[in-house]
Amino acid sequence: RFSTAVAVEEPITPPVQVQYTQLLINGQFVDAASGRTFPTLDPRTGEVIAHVAEGDVEDVNRAVAAARKAFDQGPWPRMTGYERSRILLRFADLIEKHNDEIAALETWDNGKPYEQAANVEIPMFARLMRYYAGWADKIHGLVVPADGPHHVQVLHEPIGVAGQIIPWNFPLLMYAWKVGPALACGNTIVLKAAEQTPLSALYVSKLLHEAGLPEGAINVIPGFGPTAGAALASHMEVDKLAFTGSTDTGKIVLELAARSNLKPVTLELGGKSPMIIMDDADVDHAVELAHFALFFNQGQCCCAGSRTFVHEKVYDEFVEKAKARALKRVVGDPFRKGVEQGPQIDEDQFNKILRYIKSGIDSGATLQAGGDRLGSKGYFIQPTIFSDVKDGMQIAQEEIFGPVQSILKFSDLNEVIRRANTTRYGLAAGVFTNNLDTANTLTRALRAGTVWINCFDVFDAAIPFGGYKMSGQGREKGIDSLKNYLQVKAVVTPLKNP
Ligand code: ADP
Repeated sequence: RFSTAVAVEEPITPPVQVQYTQLLINGQFVDAASGRTFPTLDPRTGEVIAHVAEGDVEDVNRAVAAARKAFDQGPWPRMTGYERSRILLRFADLIEKHNDEIAALETWDNGKPYEQAANVEIPMFARLMRYYAGWADKIHGLVVPADGPHHVQVLHEPIGVAGQIIPWNFPLLMYAWKVGPALACGNTIVLKAAEQTPLSALYVSKLLHEAGLPEGAINVIPGFGPTAGAALASHMEVDKLAFTGSTDTGKIVLELAARSNLKPVTLELGGKSPMIIMDDADVDHAVELAHFALFFNQGQCCCAGSRTFVHEKVYDEFVEKAKARALKRVVGDPFRKGVEQGPQIDEDQFNKILRYIKSGIDSGATLQAGGDRLGSKGYFIQPTIFSDVKDGMQIAQEEIFGPVQSILKFSDLNEVIRRANTTRYGLAAGVFTNNLDTANTLTRALRAGTVWINCFDVFDAAIPFGGYKMSGQGREKGIDSLKNYLQVKAVVTPLKNP
């Protein structure tokens, strides 16, 4: 009853070799001060891909010292914006040149479909770099009128050393969202890659140096959160912190930042985004969109449409068709052509998702499809669908971060607005309707940083992204991301002859 395409037992050999496994500090690949390494695993099999240097406090100190020196004395913040722009453009060219190797590394370390990495994510990475290259020579302040006889300039300066902590679900896109604006504005960086996916950040940072980035302007520390991550968040010489990850960890890093030097923090955290299907919807189209909204990237998206609210008039038809779609989803080795879903990132996430599936069954939701692991190796999970989900159930409240769609029934607009907003999160929302008034009403009523009308997961470089409520603070991408990385200085001089 619950069968889907079977996870392949013999994994395809990835068409790439691991070249960089050390810390990147001051333009050099170096071992951790402790000499320790940790294994990064292939989520298709759980086998070791490579042993990677494990950064800790001392390494973060070295990296921050390098970034500090590069900021205080080095050429990067002192170059013209045009020169910085040209380096970022060359970086984008190099990414394009190595597109397929980078995509293979990303798939190997993360488990996402190779076609998604190669055709969407790596090209988007290059696009993001070109977008920020475009800003590098257009960042400028203002001259503002004052009441007295004063000449007032408002300067926009780089903020200094940026600490950046990124997650494993989109290792390179999260890198681009943070590194792009920080570099465009003339800052230097210490980036902590996620412990599950350290490889691609090291690879592209090497290319960034090849493109002409001066040494020390980016430093990359693979390592664990409570050690390397916490050291970065609480470092006294880090001027700004940007974090993407879970809401619980977001609270920790915000506290570490406050307790150390009050560095400003941007946070991109969890979500439980509603996907609202109105009764005028074309059901086939709505099913496909809601399926994509939830299952994309193995369900490992902070903005996943993880509460599918369906109007009662189309509910039964929707559930049947959503089930049929999930049963057709192609799950398997992400290097194989046509595979839509690879393995989950690691054993912890895999077990957590299976616990949520059990919780859904125990709380009385109806299991329509999936419900178990797929195959006997690696971290594959069957595309899973629950109907009859109620707001109070754990699966409707908490972030599952896996291929588990929860379908809830509603009967009128005010009801669905109230229920959609009854969550501690506010990252994104999807709306499916042909009625302009309904779309406008929902757009204004939903408390979320992004509302996608008749689409989902559209992530252009210029579109700001971020959360309301406990989904975060601040925005990334677009113009809004620049101000995360700029200080504002007012300069006032008297005018002798006004
Ligand atoms: P997830 O549960 O998705 O792995 P986390 O929020 O734990 O999300 O991880 C996101 C990033 O935050 C990773 O790079 C991780 O190493 C880092 N991290 C985890 N715990 C801490 C911490 N206590 N301090 C700083 N960074 C942390």
